[in-house]
Amino acid sequence: MYALAAEHGLQVAYDSCRLLKSDAKKTMGNNRMTADQICVHCQAVPATTKDHTPPENIYTKPLPPERPWVPSCDRCNKSFSKDDEYFRLKVGLNDKARGHPDVKGIIPVIFKSLNRIQAARFGMAFLRDLQYGPEFTQSGLYAGNRLAFDVDLSRIFRVVERTARGLYFVEKSELLPVNCRFWTISDDTLHQNGADAAEEIRSNIIAPLLAQPEHVVGRNAFSYRYEINGEVSAWLMTFYGAIPFVTVILPPEKMTPQGP
Ligand SMILES: [Zn+2]
Repeated sequence: MYALAAEHGLQVAYDSCRLLKSDAKKTMGNNRMTADQICVHCQAVPATTKDHTPPENIYTKPLPPERPWVPSCDRCNKSFSKDDEYFRLKVGLNDKARGHPDVKGIIPVIFKSLNRIQAARFGMAFLRDLQYGPEFTQSGLYAGNRLAFDVDLSRIFRVVERTARGLYFVEKSELLPVNCRFWTISDDTLHQNGADAAEEIRSNIIAPLLAQPEHVVGRNAFSYRYEINGEVSAWLMTFYGAIPFVTVILPPEKMTPQGP
C-alpha cells in the first residue's frame, strides 16, 4: 500500500483517512524548550531557537502569546525565512484574506520588504507574477480585488507541511520521522483530479476533520483541526479564517527487502 503512495499519495490518503479515529488532545501545546531538546526539523543537532509553526510573520502586532512553536536549530530556522516571506506574501495578499485584522497589519510590512534593496530580486519575481488589474496602482499599492497572481504552490506547500510537522510535535510532544511523507491540497488543487476525487476528499478527509475541535490562534489569523491514528495524521489548517489547506502525514515509505 505504501509503495503506491509515493506516486499516488491521493489513494493512500483516502484509505488512511477512512481509518482515522480521533485521539485528539484538547490542549494547545505551549511547550517549553529544555537544554537537551533536539531540532524538530533536522533531528541532528540540539535546538537553540524557537521556530513558530506556522511562521510568526503571518501575525501582526501584538503577536498572539499562545502562538505555537517548536524547538529548532539556528541553521534550520534561518533556512526557512525565504519560504516564510513568500508564504506571507502570497497568502496575505490572497483576495480571500482581505479585511482580516492581521492582514491589514502585515500588508504595509509586505510592501516595505518588497521595497528593500536586498529584496530587489524577490520583489521583481513577485511583480512578474502579477497580472495587473485596474485597481493595482502604478505606485505599487495593493488596492483591490482585481489583483491576481501566480503562486508557486510547491513553495507554499513546503511551509504548510512544515507547519503540520510542527503542530504534530506541539500536540503529541513526539518527533515525526524526518523522512515522513506529506500529501497536501489547497482550494486550488482540490479539483485538479476531477469532481469525483474532490468529493472523496471532502467526505473522507475534510468532513471528519471538521468534526474535530478547532484550535484558534490570536484573532483567528490561524486555526487548525487534526486527527491522529497511529502513524497517519490529517491536518486542516486555515489562515485568516479563509484560506484552508489539508495535509495528510504518512509514515516513511517502507523499504522493500532485498532478495538473498
Ligand atoms: Zn535543525
